[in-house]
Amino acid sequence: MIKANSPSLTSWVEIAADSDFPIQNIPFGIISYGGNSPRPASRIGDYAIDLSVLSDLGYFDSLGIDNLGVFYAPVLNDFIALGKPVWQAVRQQISDLLNIENQELQGNENHTQQVLRPIHEVTVHLPVEVGDYTDFYSSIDHATNVGTMFRDPDNALFPNWKHLPVGYHGRSSSIVVSGAEIHRPKGQTKADDAESPTFGPSRLFDFELEMAFVTGKQTQLGEAVDVNKAEDYIFGMLIFNDLSARDIQKWEYVPLGPFLSKNFGSVVSPWIITLDALEPFKLDAPAQDPEVLPYLKVDDRKNHDIKLDVFIKPDGGEENHVCASNYKYLYWTMSQQLAHQTVNGCNINVGDMYASGTISGPTPESYGSMLELSWRGSKPIRLNDGTERRFVNDNDTIIMRAYAEKDGVRIGFGESVTKVLPSI
Ligand code: MN
Repeated sequence: MIKANSPSLTSWVEIAADSDFPIQNIPFGIISYGGNSPRPASRIGDYAIDLSVLSDLGYFDSLGIDNLGVFYAPVLNDFIALGKPVWQAVRQQISDLLNIENQELQGNENHTQQVLRPIHEVTVHLPVEVGDYTDFYSSIDHATNVGTMFRDPDNALFPNWKHLPVGYHGRSSSIVVSGAEIHRPKGQTKADDAESPTFGPSRLFDFELEMAFVTGKQTQLGEAVDVNKAEDYIFGMLIFNDLSARDIQKWEYVPLGPFLSKNFGSVVSPWIITLDALEPFKLDAPAQDPEVLPYLKVDDRKNHDIKLDVFIKPDGGEENHVCASNYKYLYWTMSQQLAHQTVNGCNINVGDMYASGTISGPTPESYGSMLELSWRGSKPIRLNDGTERRFVNDNDTIIMRAYAEKDGVRIGFGESVTKVLPSI
């Protein structure tokens, strides 16, 4: 077991029992406060841990890191590029410093006050500069639901779907961090019975409940990642809300796939949870039939048991739980996605994001988009205030949360929060 994951660890920092960020988590992100520049941080309970201050005070000196400048950078890319042994050593060192049995930081009140910043006093930023972004389509329930609605219930999946993890290259410039306000996009739509398209605000604004992984190691053009070693190339994961305009998508997507219906904003949670921290939550991935080609065949194919929830909060109203899904339902795993992405020699870089595709489960309450939850608008969802939703309204806030729990340890992702503003 990874030492920092031990359920028996406790911290001297006070942490609520239901916190997403116990001492076993130690995620990485970017914060700013008090007018200073954005810098790397970790988190425990309701505190951000300023890694630049830990570095200033010499707490990383023993790790032999050549370039301590990574702890002062506005994004995590350079830190991640130092490699897996360095991330692991830094996570372990933070765990040691927060351990109740260790007096080194705990016993120095001046230092603890500089290092720990109350979370409500910090601003979170996008944790990495995203070079490239891919969106997969790896949930069999989602792909089946969409195929059933728009094509043919008897042939819901396209013939390629069970042979390769379908995906498309998305837009990285519009990936933003939680707390975003996104205007309803305008674009071309065409009603089925209309002769020509019209231009205006999208009427079918949707979320897509996804998780994304962030790559931590680059490859050279021409190099393919071995499916059984793919996890060595992955730094960690976050929540990814892939906002979608269904009416724009329906008209524009033929024949090259979604374009403007998907690139007006995608909202991630601020903390990258390392694959190391998620190690205890692995479980067998769903069986694949038919058998996949050798380059996609994993010796011991695992998914992660991560509970996913979506809430809609009307302006001034309360949160309404609209979806409960789980990452474990994915048919194609992260390793298979990355092996497929690179099998043709396509190179990857540190800080790239690879989203899972909408993660729907097998039951109606586990569907990961309004398109499915309201079954294309035919079954509106009733909110606590008596109003109904087929899709997302102006001034609604979409909140996604995710956590894994086992042996009394809860490793959470925090949240991805998006407020939908009217079209401009
Ligand atoms: Mn998507």
